[in-house]
Amino acid sequence: MPILIERYRRWLDVPSDLTAYSIGEGNTPLVHWQTWGATRVWLKLEGSNPTGSFKDRGMTVAVSIARHSMARAVICASTGNTAASAAAYAGRAGLPAFVVMPEGQVAPPKMVQAAAHGARLIVVRGNFDQALSGVRTVAANESWIALVNSVNPWRIRGQETAAYEIVDALGTVPMMLVLPVGNAGNISAYFQGFHRYAGRAPEFLGVQAKGSDPLVQNRPLDHVATIASAIRIGRPASADSAKTAVKESHGQFLSVDDTAILAAQKELAHGGIFVEPASAAAYAGLLQRQSLQTLPSGDIVVILTGAGLKDTDTPLQWASIASTLSPADGILSTITTLLEEMAG
Ligand SMILES: *Cc1c(COP(=O)(O)O)cnc(C)c1O
Repeated sequence: MPILIERYRRWLDVPSDLTAYSIGEGNTPLVHWQTWGATRVWLKLEGSNPTGSFKDRGMTVAVSIARHSMARAVICASTGNTAASAAAYAGRAGLPAFVVMPEGQVAPPKMVQAAAHGARLIVVRGNFDQALSGVRTVAANESWIALVNSVNPWRIRGQETAAYEIVDALGTVPMMLVLPVGNAGNISAYFQGFHRYAGRAPEFLGVQAKGSDPLVQNRPLDHVATIASAIRIGRPASADSAKTAVKESHGQFLSVDDTAILAAQKELAHGGIFVEPASAAAYAGLLQRQSLQTLPSGDIVVILTGAGLKDTDTPLQWASIASTLSPADGILSTITTLLEEMAG
């Protein structure tokens, strides 16, 4: 399989002499999850990207372009996954990466990932929106540093490829697309991507977390709280294009609470698919929408944006790790006890 940029080069409009830096992004599984009446539910496993989130699709393009335009470093603000992805691609392209993270707001595995790839982590007191505003100012004043947040249009172009893959896999545009919405770059990318590749877009269900739902409330929020740290954003940079995507596709924004997110995470994981809380929010949103209104017949695709191992604390709220065996007990007697617990 050719690398993502080569596969979709003519749709991406990248410079013809661009050197593409790849670590094997894209081409992620589209898994048939369940059929509910006349509705087929598919899951797009974006956590199968090399750094564990969809950010890689945009980052391969943004970092390759940064290199092509002679940038000497890349910078981003991040709730974690952008940082991990920027760090990996910058490493691949031989560029230093500076990642700015809100203190106490990033799941530790994502920080570990970014640091392991050699990025320099800068932790700021404040929230993601403040961190983003800070890096935007730096990048605007320092032309040698390329900003690789989703406000960089090349990020969005790269992320369009997920829409292309869905059309290629289903042979058509699905009826509905369900995805979590944080800074709102990804929903904008899917909208643009479906239009460019297939001439029309599915109905969008943009899911936010209660406590961090500026698009549902239709106003920016300065204080945000949710277990789903990847979408803990009060001032989405791409709010306008997200609203356009929802409006033009006759879709909607809705919000789900942390309890629903955890229940969805558990249901998916027990069905073999382990995703981080922000991704589980999308599935929780679909369940909520189903309880309120009949779903369209045909294909619905839920975008599971990031892998479960990205956030190892959250699942401990519903999963138990080990049963400690005392020397006197046998393994079989422990299994018997566990089976009784499960039945009760
Ligand atoms: C970045 C991210 C989101 C939100 O995407 P936006 O483009 O900011 O709306 C959702 N889920 C995960 C796992 C992410 O990393």
